[in-house]
Amino acid sequence: MTAARQEQLAAGLSAVNQRIEQACARVGRDPAEITLVVVTKTFPVDDVAQLAALGVTDVGENRDQEAKAKAAAAPPWLRWHFVGQLQTNKARSVGRYADVVHSVDRVELVQALDRGAVAAGRRLDVLLQIDLAESNGDSSPFDRPSGAGGEDQTRGVHRSRGGAPLADVPALAEQVGSTSALRLRGVMAVAPLGVDPAAAFARLRTVSDALRAQVPGADWISAGMTGDLEQAVAAGATHLRVGSAILGQRPALQ
Ligand SMILES: *Cc1c(COP(=O)(O)O)cnc(C)c1O
Repeated sequence: MTAARQEQLAAGLSAVNQRIEQACARVGRDPAEITLVVVTKTFPVDDVAQLAALGVTDVGENRDQEAKAKAAAAPPWLRWHFVGQLQTNKARSVGRYADVVHSVDRVELVQALDRGAVAAGRRLDVLLQIDLAESNGDSSPFDRPSGAGGEDQTRGVHRSRGGAPLADVPALAEQVGSTSALRLRGVMAVAPLGVDPAAAFARLRTVSDALRAQVPGADWISAGMTGDLEQAVAAGATHLRVGSAILGQRPALQ
């Protein structure tokens, strides 16, 4: 890696920090309330090390194999956020290096992550990923899912981006509360394609409010990526997950 790459990363990081400051200023928030998670998926561990040298403390990955290798090679003080859809059989591995798992969306995954963290002698912060594309009875027809298991039927339009149905949230929260190694910190979502992110994140905020009534400490809201971080800040996000605005375009297929 070259000095040119370091300059690119520094420029991307400072542009994103500026966007965050401006978004905060518009809605009267303090940028210090917000954690920037730099999503480094598909980029080499050299980039992770350069980002760490630039002051980044939190990095995100969405695949176990890649994340595991990078976490082993990167500066040890970094916090690793797992942000991708997670298979139950990978939970044990993720429990060894992740500090935060953003994508918890089903009971079996809660149990598997707990077993993995216990086996590793670690504690894990977890967020419940919410499917904001799912119809909640009161939403517009644009929010409807594409049908049971058929998430590709509406490819590119109003498609679900993963997560638990809203109705599952109380039971999942209770389940996390009954584990020994997991700590429920809040909610996470990806704005559904084709839906106004401001409306999607406002809805996530209401889910967060309801969850906090059940679990008072679970006040993190992970929302906002390169394309919609301003809307996420306006809706109260505490964690932004930003990749391409800092690292550049990823290859089309990951
Ligand atoms: C890739 C990814 C991001 C970052 O996306 P950008 O648009 O590159 O900022 C954020 N969240 C999740 C879940 C991702 O998979």
